[in-house]
Amino acid sequence: DALYRLHGWGAPYFAINVAGHLCVRPSGGTEGRDEVDMMAVIDSLTAQQLQLPVILRFPDILHHRMRELQGCFSSAIAKFGYQRHFEGVFPIKCNPECHLLDQFVEFGFGLEVGSKPELLIALSKLSSRDGALLICNGYKDSVYVENVVLATRLGIRAVIVLEQIEELEEVVACSQRLGIRPIIGVRAKLSTKHNGHWGETSGDKAKFGLTVTQIVSVVYRLRQEGMLDCLKLLHFHIGSQISSILVIKEAMREASHTYCELARMGAPMGYIDVGGGLGIDYDGSKGHSSASVNYNMQNYANDVVAALMDACLLKGVAEPVIVSESGRALASHSSVLVFDVLHAPHHTKNPASAFLDNVSEAEDLHLDSFRNDYASNPQSQDAGEYLLSTFYQVCATLELGNIQEAFNDAKQLRQEASSLFRLGCLSLEQRAQADVLYEKVCQQVLGFGSRLPKEFKLSFPTLYTCNLSVFRSAPDSWAISQIFPVMPLHRLNEKPTVQAILADLTCDSDGKIDRFIGPSGEMSRALALHSLQEAKPYHLGLFLGGVYQEMLGSAHNLFGGVNIVYLRALGDGDFAIDFVLPGQTAGEVLGGTHHSHADLLKELVTQSSSSVAAGKLSQKEASLLIANYQRCLDSYTYFSMPSDFLYH
Ligand code: PLP
Repeated sequence: DALYRLHGWGAPYFAINVAGHLCVRPSGGTEGRDEVDMMAVIDSLTAQQLQLPVILRFPDILHHRMRELQGCFSSAIAKFGYQRHFEGVFPIKCNPECHLLDQFVEFGFGLEVGSKPELLIALSKLSSRDGALLICNGYKDSVYVENVVLATRLGIRAVIVLEQIEELEEVVACSQRLGIRPIIGVRAKLSTKHNGHWGETSGDKAKFGLTVTQIVSVVYRLRQEGMLDCLKLLHFHIGSQISSILVIKEAMREASHTYCELARMGAPMGYIDVGGGLGIDYDGSKGHSSASVNYNMQNYANDVVAALMDACLLKGVAEPVIVSESGRALASHSSVLVFDVLHAPHHTKNPASAFLDNVSEAEDLHLDSFRNDYASNPQSQDAGEYLLSTFYQVCATLELGNIQEAFNDAKQLRQEASSLFRLGCLSLEQRAQADVLYEKVCQQVLGFGSRLPKEFKLSFPTLYTCNLSVFRSAPDSWAISQIFPVMPLHRLNEKPTVQAILADLTCDSDGKIDRFIGPSGEMSRALALHSLQEAKPYHLGLFLGGVYQEMLGSAHNLFGGVNIVYLRALGDGDFAIDFVLPGQTAGEVLGGTHHSHADLLKELVTQSSSSVAAGKLSQKEASLLIANYQRCLDSYTYFSMPSDFLYH
């Protein structure tokens, strides 16, 4: 638990059970009655032939988060004697997956949209829910505006939020054309600045929102058109994952006064939409890093309500309904990406690794032969031989007392070996021997175990190749170095012995995860993992990726969308798989780049037949090729585990 700081980022939803497995408590209970063992879930998926990687989604976690947010606002409202209520809307861009959005709508949340396609989803999903709240942000053309205005006739409280001053004339014209009075909001460009990763939406130079002058001109123009009674909402959003509560307090003060001034200028108002920004604790440090937050949901709700109370009392304005567009804080915890490690150096059964395995044996033949060939001849004129003999000495004399020096020498000698190879002064075999000696030094260093100074463990992490694409499943880890908690899902009562970096399946050197939460909350370049066991899978989970990642993820190297499984805890360790949304097949991904599945196959069949006719390919080989090709087109884009893998 402490090693991965699980309690810090995962409570109350994730814990370790007595079997050393990670388990989920979807309803946020601490007694474990609704506990689901992740390994039992993986067993069940494997039995159904469902391949990893897979996203496990727990709607009960979403419900718990929604109830928490509502509960925090209710407490704050009761505590301060605030006169109006709270309403949540979920920003579709955080995760537009159909079933996930249904959870929000069925719970009674509204939706926030920022584009025409998102509006299409929202109009349809909210149309049967009389009075549902729809916040319409983003750039708006005339069709967008028209649809929002018409939506009010469906009984949806569809608020058209002016983000650019140019939108005002479109809204006025549309309302006059259709003879419908729209619900208008304005998005304020606050001067309060948030300095985190996602702070570009804040401050005077923000891309969205109206300046103070523009807001005043909107009031004048609407008054001129006799439409000021349509202005009902003030919105702001200063960026996602606000790590400091002081920024929230400051933004709320500025926004609350702006709201009150609009009311004083004669707009009926009634709603303030405080946007998103409510952050979560990615590294469990409780506010001690930029990946964390120095407040909780209750502090947030208290500050929002208190700022509004103060301003409204001071200016004698009626308190507004509070709307929030939290996405990250609501949906991040509900998805877990499960993937497996395919291999690590020393764990593949190829001849090269056998060569290295020999080296780890005390009575090892290679070293003996080095000793015979080189150590006896330190004065050798041959550069390669001289290097190897020196390397051998480093290896043979390494001890705890000279560990730093020996390790530095080993690194330097290995580099020199590759330079000599480039100059043609080292044979391929000699270069391999230098690598073997380097590995030997590393293994000796690791052999000192707990006596080893900490820096050493981190100075040569092992590359664990994993069955996933970072670009598809955790794009923010690559694009903006965001930290996501990653940890094994089993063997958690066994001490990890390897410091690993995770490489993905893409042929891209950026396709790796090498930023993790260290045991003391510090950022670490490697993750403590277990050594792999022969023919046994090793499963990892990447957590808190329930927002943005699925949509920002791309098909780099043509790795497709992954399987998604919706799960529910039934109590006493039981669970139900409600449904599975299959990931993309290779054929589907190829279709996304305009390759016709059928044309590709047809061309290959034609060419294979001519090769058979020309005697270059046997009929049997041609049939195998076509069958394989067809099977690949219809199957998952990720690595298929060998069928003899021993699943639990
Ligand atoms: N509302 C708007 C206008 C946004 O741009 C965003 C995302 O940045 C959100 C809401 C959701 O923010 P968060 O995920 O921080 O809750």
